[in-house]
Amino acid sequence: MAAKLIKGAEVAAQIREELKKEVEELKAKHNVTPGLVTILVGENPASVSYVTAKQKTSHELGFYSIQDSQPADITEAALLALIDKYNKDPKIHGILIQLPVPKHIDSNKVLLAIDPNKDVDAFHPVNVGRILIGNYVFLPCTPAGCQELINRSYGDPKGKEVVVVGRSNIVGKPMVAIMIQKLQGANATVTCVHTGTPKDKLIEHCRRADILVVAAGVPEYVQGDWIKEGCCVIDVGVNRVGISEKTGKAILKGDVHFESCAAKASYITPVPGGVGPMTITMLMKNTVMAAKAAAGLIKI
Ligand code: NAP
Repeated sequence: MAAKLIKGAEVAAQIREELKKEVEELKAKHNVTPGLVTILVGENPASVSYVTAKQKTSHELGFYSIQDSQPADITEAALLALIDKYNKDPKIHGILIQLPVPKHIDSNKVLLAIDPNKDVDAFHPVNVGRILIGNYVFLPCTPAGCQELINRSYGDPKGKEVVVVGRSNIVGKPMVAIMIQKLQGANATVTCVHTGTPKDKLIEHCRRADILVVAAGVPEYVQGDWIKEGCCVIDVGVNRVGISEKTGKAILKGDVHFESCAAKASYITPVPGGVGPMTITMLMKNTVMAAKAAAGLIKI
């Protein structure tokens, strides 16, 4: 393997150390404690484990942190009222609703009910618009994590060719919006390819990329002969392709054929252990930013 592995867990730990210091400083100098509420509706085991991990990290960083678990049969009106309560609570700077919510609740209504200044997932249309005009405080966690991984391993993407495979609202499109910003850590030339791109053209675009971000949801899609020697490959994909007989756990594959791409790239994220570990850390970063904005320390 020629490529250096981008170890998401190590980068995430480094960012959490930086955040911990920032939180201590916020408390000591400004009497501000970042506050996060995670709202869980029902007891979906995957959702329970996600909110548990988010709570654990927020406690480790010294946040004021609330886990609000609601029964699966909570009415939509009651959930909206709960969100309103946290919108008005000055100790809470970030509100996270763990998705999915039960089918009788309109998830769009729920996301729209969150005060955009407390929307630490950055899914509210106001925050999507803020990102497009380059005047934002939060970025969606997964593409923001990719940006950190690029900058802290490969280096500044300024002037580089970035190709994004996939255009979903939570990964592909915000990744494009982040990388085209005339800002430090971005300022790249960006192309987005998707199912509307003929396959031969898609491969041509991939071959031009200095930085290739793949979020297609297709296991081992991008092949080594589609990429440029020395490029940086960020594999967002997490695909369960079977169950290991040895461990009984899911076998995970990314959207990139790891062996052939690692032989040519200069940097590559593994799956698991690349982009995945960054997501919770970026949520914490967003909560710190929300607390700073609420205290008037940065402009929102
Ligand atoms: P998604 O909503 O299914 O979107 C996939 C995108 O890829 C769509 O824009 C689709 O194009 C495009 N696409 C699908 N097949 C393609 C192909 N053969 N050629 C070119 N483009 C293709 O998925 P997502 O939510 O963005 O997630 C993508 C992957 O990242 C999934 O494996 C997901 O599990 C993973 N993920 C990981 C994390 C993490 O924290 N590590 C977070 C989020 C997602 P169209 O728009 O034309 O349909």
